[in-house]
Amino acid sequence: MQSFDLRDDFPFLSRQIDGVDVVYLDSAATSLKPNCVIEAITHFYQNVATNVHRGKSYVTEEASNIYEQTRYKVANFIRCSGNEVVFCKNTTEAINMVALGLELDSDDWILVCSDAHHSNFLPWQQNAKTRYVGLLDDGSLDLETYYKLLEEKPKLAAITHCSNATGLYLPVKEMIEAAHKHGVLTLMDAAQSIPHKAIDVQSLDVDFMAFSAHKVLGPTGLGILYGKKALLEELKPMQWGGGMVDWVALDNTQTRKLPHRLEAGTPNISAVFGFNAALDYIDKLGMENIEKYDNFLSDYIVSKILENKRLTIIGGVGHARSSTTSFSIQGVSNLDDLSRILSDSYGIICRTGHLCAQPLVSAVAGEQVMRISAYVYTTTEDIDFFFNSLSEILDFM
Ligand code: PMP
Repeated sequence: MQSFDLRDDFPFLSRQIDGVDVVYLDSAATSLKPNCVIEAITHFYQNVATNVHRGKSYVTEEASNIYEQTRYKVANFIRCSGNEVVFCKNTTEAINMVALGLELDSDDWILVCSDAHHSNFLPWQQNAKTRYVGLLDDGSLDLETYYKLLEEKPKLAAITHCSNATGLYLPVKEMIEAAHKHGVLTLMDAAQSIPHKAIDVQSLDVDFMAFSAHKVLGPTGLGILYGKKALLEELKPMQWGGGMVDWVALDNTQTRKLPHRLEAGTPNISAVFGFNAALDYIDKLGMENIEKYDNFLSDYIVSKILENKRLTIIGGVGHARSSTTSFSIQGVSNLDDLSRILSDSYGIICRTGHLCAQPLVSAVAGEQVMRISAYVYTTTEDIDFFFNSLSEILDFM
């Protein structure tokens, strides 16, 4: 399949490390940013610069208009209404807003999945009663237990659309439907699926969804919490301060309507400007094309792993997966050293460790795995270069 041929749009890809061209295979950690995103951020600081929703000047209104226009672009992107899109810092903050804002009775508990990133694990573990869905031997989620535990009526099921450790997609539509059958709310972590798949929150019928702009070509410092309007209206704000209130008196405070009641303090306006440009860029590429290309890269990466007998893929084969792929390496215990050699001698940026998904990685691979992850600017040449370089190093080990 033909790649998108976008490399000139991504200035980071012309970077070298000690005279060696960089090969970026860590898009699951954060995606690279195209020029248009970088220019939109610069434009904000050079020409707009003001705060939003706080003054009556021409430029303040210009800032506020782009800020709110971006909210509607996000709403259009995930198919909801604008007042159901809350801007925050990142996926982590979005999930914490729900974990800390939900009204829980003393016997309420949360169903947590062991394939979660720590961001969809710790906010629940630290703030609520929890029960856990375990993993099967290959690292995929034990769905049978998930469906069984729903019968015991948790308050909410915290699920992940696509694991950042295995790259496996979960059957979230069925999981949400089953939860609702038992009156259970759902929160879906979409941090790793939103870059690769069109998501329609209405057809999924998910109650809350969280993702980060920085994994979808946007800047760091901007997250999105989607919630059904009635649920967001009941959520206790995690933070209080300016921008979220209509009226404050010594004995009475009136919060603003959604989504502003959940957005206390000056937001990350430049990041919102940047994300506006990122969404246009994605729109031009087309989510359908992006998904097709990611499926192609995913198959390509899996085939490369299966060719090398020393590599064991995490999460097994035959499941629906994104291009985010982890593996262990027979005979190599310190993968961090290997990652350093790949970086310093070959210019390759990939990831090793527990990937902030320690319950999963510990259960199926011990301490560490190596992960490569691709995005729209990645080519099969990048992937070939990675596997050839890895083989070259392993031959010496
Ligand atoms: N969930 C998943 C599945 C992730 O991959 C990540 C980022 N690695 C997060 C949550 C947290 O994202 P952020 O650090 O932007 O809050």
